[in-house]
Amino acid sequence: MIKKKGVVLILSPSLEDYLEEIYRFSQNKVEVRVTDIANKLSVSLPSVSKAIKTLSAKGYLHYEPYQSLHLSKKGEKLGEFLVERNKTLQEFLTTIGSECNKEKEAEAMEHYLSQPTLEAITSLVNFFRENSKYQDQFIQFKEDDK
Ligand code: CA
Repeated sequence: MIKKKGVVLILSPSLEDYLEEIYRFSQNKVEVRVTDIANKLSVSLPSVSKAIKTLSAKGYLHYEPYQSLHLSKKGEKLGEFLVERNKTLQEFLTTIGSECNKEKEAEAMEHYLSQPTLEAITSLVNFFRENSKYQDQFIQFKEDDK
């Protein structure tokens, strides 16, 4: 883990995205291939291969050339965290009524939040989910505040 100004970077943002996508694929498909990841992230095959090698060297997945990818326990754990983090941020943007492109914005935000901020956002999302009248009040306030 690299600590940089309070942001805990487990992997570089780009490697996080690779792992996040591999985890998503592994939840829906038996075989995850390099081409799947390249297509999904719109990157070249050599870029994916390079990332796969790094992730493999760091113990996040097992990979043999021309075979499918398999996440290790460690890779699954981090992949699940990354996918959850992305979901939470998209839900956060919905909760606060942002009219942004939620998918893109969550992608931009996710790599740069510290753990305490992520935890606070998660609590806020849960709070509004359990107390929808406050969320309604907030959305009304936001409209009136324009
Ligand atoms: Ca991502």
